[in-house]
Amino acid sequence: MKKLRKTKIIIEYSGSRIPVERDERGLYTCPICGDYLFYSVEDLMHHVIAHARNSLKAIRPAPKRH
Ligand SMILES: [Zn+2]
Repeated sequence: MKKLRKTKIIIEYSGSRIPVERDERGLYTCPICGDYLFYSVEDLMHHVIAHARNSLKAIRPAPKRH
């Protein structure tokens, strides 16, 4: 399996600068858990904000589709 090349970018949100990685497909990786992929900065930010509001252990994996 080919490893995807990742690009480091800085996104700004509410005056905070957050370094995130974006891969070749244009998917953003969560900078905190490094585990989730997002198609848009907006979706990523919702996730990062959830990290900030809750303790990490309160974060649950994304719900599975039935
Ligand atoms: Zn995360």
